[in-house]
Amino acid sequence: MDIREKLQLVLDRIATAAAKAGRSADDVELVAVTKTFGTEVIREVVDAGQLLLGENKVQELLRKVPDLPAKVRWHLIGHLQSNKVRKVLPVAEMIHSVDSLDLAADMDRIAGELGLFPKVLLEVNVAGEASKHGFTPAMLEAQMETLLACSRLEIHGLMCIPPISKEPEDSRKHFVFLREFRDHLEQRAGTKFTTLSMGMSGDYPVAVEEGATLVRVGSAIFGSR
Ligand SMILES: *Cc1c(COP(=O)(O)O)cnc(C)c1O
Repeated sequence: MDIREKLQLVLDRIATAAAKAGRSADDVELVAVTKTFGTEVIREVVDAGQLLLGENKVQELLRKVPDLPAKVRWHLIGHLQSNKVRKVLPVAEMIHSVDSLDLAADMDRIAGELGLFPKVLLEVNVAGEASKHGFTPAMLEAQMETLLACSRLEIHGLMCIPPISKEPEDSRKHFVFLREFRDHLEQRAGTKFTTLSMGMSGDYPVAVEEGATLVRVGSAIFGSR
């Protein structure tokens, strides 16, 4: 299969999983994760109509932006250091990976200086893995009020990266947790968090069944890295 065919297969599987869950495929958007791949290859999916791309590193994202059409929308999906916030805010449509109160506060201040209102997701460390970034659920609950007071940040929802597993079904409980935790936070905060960024190449159909609105898929489209 070429890249176009693999992209189409991913889109078809998203639609099938959405239908299975009684959801509309229009409520799920694919973020094609382009990290480590060159602009030639990336251009193939852009030409095929995939305009939403994700990178996990700021430097790599900034390097690729000028080489691809301006109609491409970029999401930052990986850990963001405070010293790179000023550079990434003007180019990223959404930051999936706000993983601490300190980072949120820095982003809020810098967004104010730049006159921006960045769209962000809060990353939740759903399995409590020491190797992963993200708020523990307890921390997020405790800090929610302070996060919501960051008036420059448009908090759209939550993101998670479950533990690596060969079995897609192993991720289901983490996706269910993220959705239910989102519902709980919405009730407590009295605001809507409409976005759930969950699901990667190994488990995105399960994520869609459990309510993902953004799936981040790389290797299933571009091949292994
Ligand atoms: C690389 C990456 C993905 C995509 O992973 P694949 O398994 O290649 O689909 C998704 N999310 C994040 C945060 C990533 O860094």
